[in-house]
Amino acid sequence: YLAKEGRTGVELYQPDKDRNSPERLNLLGDLRRAIDNRELRLHYQPKVSLSSGAVQGVEALLRWRHPVHGPIAPSEFVPLAEQTYLMRQLTAYVIESALEQVARWWHTGQRVQISVNISARDLLDSALPEQLELGLAQYGLPPAAIQLEVTERILTGDQAYTQETIKALATLGVPLALDDFGTGYSSLIRLQRLAVSEVKIDASFVRRIAESEDDARIVRSIVDLVRSLGLRSVAEGVESDDVAMRLAEMGCDVGQGWLFGEPMPAAEATIWLQDHSEASPEVEFGYRPEVSRTA
Ligand code: C2E
Ligand code: MG
Ligand code: MG
Ligand code: MG
Repeated sequence: YLAKEGRTGVELYQPDKDRNSPERLNLLGDLRRAIDNRELRLHYQPKVSLSSGAVQGVEALLRWRHPVHGPIAPSEFVPLAEQTYLMRQLTAYVIESALEQVARWWHTGQRVQISVNISARDLLDSALPEQLELGLAQYGLPPAAIQLEVTERILTGDQAYTQETIKALATLGVPLALDDFGTGYSSLIRLQRLAVSEVKIDASFVRRIAESEDDARIVRSIVDLVRSLGLRSVAEGVESDDVAMRLAEMGCDVGQGWLFGEPMPAAEATIWLQDHSEASPEVEFGYRPEVSRTA
């Protein structure tokens, strides 16, 4: 079940690549109904401290089980929704569901932070900070109970509006993470200008650090850069204990990936959180981080 939904496997339905193909337009119509019919669910993937093994938060990831086509990957339908007004509805649904779930965890003593992916276009929506403020108040949660993950694309286009929303989020106290770092246009200067508190290093770099010295050097320099800016570094796509150990040695703060846990439905994630409330990397995940690391 998890293997089918979690990984971008060959069994996933792939609509025609042509933007205006009937398949895509149908899918868009289906997506509209799916939001109302609750065919969309969030799965949750843990983010773990690489040095202590403690849970740092969970990322909410959308899953769509289409009644005819079966599971459809977010990489298929999110870009589709992004081209339309539907994205606003989709994001509102994701935030609402994520807050509802994180409130449940907080009220049972699991004070984890929930990360929600938003698209660059969502930052043009001036109603976003207000929705968050109302939602947080409704559940009696502090702003840091949620974090928004945005990709580097926020740095291109419509800067003024985007900056206004980012400022409103900062005033509210909701933290931002920069997702997929390394794949876009970011430079040191731009990174410094952004009000982000966390940088997520893209899986494409992370995956190969155990084999490739070049990739290891890239990741090490990103980790150093992120630390020098006083931000938290998160490695995406951590699949092996070897990679986790190398990352810990580099001083990377947090890991996320199949080594720690796949994206899970809420009930399963709740059990995972209970089981890992006193985690140590050695016992739980099979790697031993260096206690003292070289600079
Ligand atoms: P992302 O935010 O960078 O999420 C990380 C992706 O890596 C997820 O793919 C996750 O399932 C996958 N992953 C986690 N651990 C591993 C690992 O160890 N190895 C490998 N190979 N992959 C791993 P997923 O769930 O298919 O989501 C893909 C992208 O779709 C996300 O990338 C995000 O950009 C977007 N997305 C997902 N949910 C939402 C959402 O609710 N709203 C928006 N706007 N975008 C979303
Ligand atoms: Mg993300
Ligand atoms: Mg990412
Ligand atoms: Mg990604």
